[in-house]
Amino acid sequence: MNRAGGISVPRKKHQPKLSALDPDSLMTSYDFLPELSEGAVKPPVFLTSTFAFKGAGELAALIQTAHDNRGGKSNEALPLIYSRINHPNAEIFEKRFSLWNGSEEAAVFASGMAAIATTSFAFLRPGDILLHSSPLYGGTEDFFARELRTFGIKTASFSAESDYSEIKKIAKRACRRGPLRMIFVEAAANPTNVLADIEACAEIAEEFSSGKRKAITVVDNTFLGPLWLNPFKHGADLALYSATKYIGGHSDLLAGVVEGKAKMISRLKSARTRFGNIAGAFTCWLLTRSLETLKLRMTAQVKNARRVADFLRDDRRVEKVYYPEFFEEDSNQNRLYEKQCSAPGAVVSFDIKGGRKTAFRFLDALKFFKLAVSLGSTEPLAEHPATTTHYGIPREKRIRLGITDKMIRLSIGLGSPYDYIFDLKQALDEAVRDRRARQLR
Ligand code: PLP
Repeated sequence: MNRAGGISVPRKKHQPKLSALDPDSLMTSYDFLPELSEGAVKPPVFLTSTFAFKGAGELAALIQTAHDNRGGKSNEALPLIYSRINHPNAEIFEKRFSLWNGSEEAAVFASGMAAIATTSFAFLRPGDILLHSSPLYGGTEDFFARELRTFGIKTASFSAESDYSEIKKIAKRACRRGPLRMIFVEAAANPTNVLADIEACAEIAEEFSSGKRKAITVVDNTFLGPLWLNPFKHGADLALYSATKYIGGHSDLLAGVVEGKAKMISRLKSARTRFGNIAGAFTCWLLTRSLETLKLRMTAQVKNARRVADFLRDDRRVEKVYYPEFFEEDSNQNRLYEKQCSAPGAVVSFDIKGGRKTAFRFLDALKFFKLAVSLGSTEPLAEHPATTTHYGIPREKRIRLGITDKMIRLSIGLGSPYDYIFDLKQALDEAVRDRRARQLR
């Protein structure tokens, strides 16, 4: 149990997993002992930058342990010395979060991008090849293209819909430029909801591993979250998330989290200490509170999203809806959906008939949906990927990936689906009426 409130209480190396209980039940109490915090049922926010010790010897021994473990050589739990290294609210969140997918450990970061950047710098070296699926969230694509390349890390990409042999062909070609060290996929992809084949990527990473450093498969599971996709069942080494989205779930924080084998997470935590990008105590406290309602929220959101997606599919002003349940029955994407996912998520993208102007008129006419980037929160959000989240992707590539000027991305919240549909319908009416009025002028 976490020693919150009693810093001298000895800690166990590995917490026994209470595997008989549903993670949902464990979200309210796991890894926190009220008796160590004045009987408080809920963990306090440990707003402290540093931790006091009784003797110099005790502190010296802990520092020695932390140093010996640099680079993640052992699975020893990080000591509580200084809050940039570790703090009680981070620990409680990480322990509880890892229960959803049954991963060994998790590491919390100040944002999803901090998680992605730290994972890249911890496991890649100059000259290495990073192979990634396309499309990716614009910020990730931008980071790979503009930051990693300046450190000599080379990238190659494959369309997220590619099958095993297509990915392998691209990997083979990329390997002429250096050793393949990471395959990074977004499942499902932002904003098209296209699914990447995690098992195929994991097999290819294994086949192309050379020398002591094997190639690893990293899945950005932000869109489906730990509830609807477990990347470890399909061979992933690490799963990472923008916890700003479903996990935080209320559009009131920024955070990221990575989960996987203890050794790899230990390596990441060393890098996190050096980069100084652990999430703060209050953010972790909010994340821990949000975990208690994660299943409830995500379940309600997907139920609402299905209704919204059905409405859009049937509306004549909508050209195409990008939603995993609408993949064609006999398609590879549908087979992948059946194999990998347990629900389609709460992000619904669609192409409006017309172009950018109609899309903008639609967005401007929304009354209840907030026009904002981000997703996975309690409130409904709408945005135009081509001019916001995916603006940094070169135009031709963006269009090739299906992120055109007529695409709109919706994130469905916890309200009434009938109210959401009412708002979408009146905005479609307005956008199209406006277009007709201009044509008559
Ligand atoms: N990954 C995906 C799929 C995202 O959609 C985002 C943000 O929208 C990120 C990563 C980055 O997360 P953050 O904004 O928390 O840094």
